Amino acid sequence: MKHLIRKEFLEEGYVFATRAADIARAAGHTRPARLASNENPYPPSSKAIKAAADVLPTANRYPDETNREFIAALKKRHGDYQFVASVGMDGIIDTILRTLISDGDRVAVATPTYSYYGLAVRAQGGVAISVPRKDDFSVDPAVFCREAAGTKLAFLCTPNNPTGSTETPKTIANICENYDGILFLDCAYIEFDGTDYRPLMKKYDNLIIGRTMSKAYSLAGLRVGYAFVPEWYEPFYHRAATPFTLNVVSQAAATAALRDTVHVKTIVSVVQEWRQRFIDECPYPVVPGGANFVMIDVAPHTAEDVVTELAQKGVVVRSCASFPGLPNHYIRVSIGEPWENEAFITAIGEIYQP
Ligand code: PMP
Repeated sequence: MKHLIRKEFLEEGYVFATRAADIARAAGHTRPARLASNENPYPPSSKAIKAAADVLPTANRYPDETNREFIAALKKRHGDYQFVASVGMDGIIDTILRTLISDGDRVAVATPTYSYYGLAVRAQGGVAISVPRKDDFSVDPAVFCREAAGTKLAFLCTPNNPTGSTETPKTIANICENYDGILFLDCAYIEFDGTDYRPLMKKYDNLIIGRTMSKAYSLAGLRVGYAFVPEWYEPFYHRAATPFTLNVVSQAAATAALRDTVHVKTIVSVVQEWRQRFIDECPYPVVPGGANFVMIDVAPHTAEDVVTELAQKGVVVRSCASFPGLPNHYIRVSIGEPWENEAFITAIGEIYQP
């Protein structure tokens, strides 16, 4: 029956990085340091947990389709912008692609970067075009606009996954001015960096800024993403969206989490302190970045060798070899709980050979 499946899905798609975890387990580490998935190691705000529990008895009813309370909390937090929300930023990306991309349409992607853009574009029948980043992994706006010319949509991630590299608001403004399509600025990790791109929304009607509650807000398991969208675009987004995307628990928890500014600030400052320690204490060069993970250049070793050795020592990290456009000597290490971070610093020190 496989002939019934669309050709886009016949090739293997997203493969979860479980290999390193398997190696750690085989080496006898029942509780390895889990630093491969850019998750927040800390639990959600206690206010979010309570809000989720309180609302669960109402789950016999469909949720509020307009996400009214969550959107109101977003406006209170960020100001009077237009927002949409969905099941993770991935859900938002899917919906945006549905509004813009038909068979054969080209979409630009600043590469190397988050793999889901390419998969989602293909699933929509579009064609992803890679726009290479510079050697330091930042984006040259002139090159970006030249290569992306004629595409309807472009993806740019800052801080970028997996490199961690960040863009200035000036670069983003330059792209918005010189690119005819819609720029999707993926800010999944922005809380850990702090650059403020929001004012650009007031100036450009071709900018969408994607955000998530999965990282700084510790709600990855509830799948809540949101985006700042231009006013003209919002009605089209809703026409393409799945009804009732955010469930009652997600809406209530995300609203409470957003209001608990102390919780998120505490987590961000702990992560930033550890990021600095990784930079200071890792014997290999760390790519400058603004996320809750760092990318490390382990040359002359291969990423696979170092990932395997770390796993054998009970530390699970991610090889960047699967990110198109990156040579095979980078690893990505998330900032985890203190004991996990200490385990990484010790293990990488043991592996290092000058
Ligand atoms: N963008 C980037 C750059 C990511 O790394 C991730 C998560 N891995 C996402 C988006 C998806 O986030 P969410 O959990 O909100 O779907």
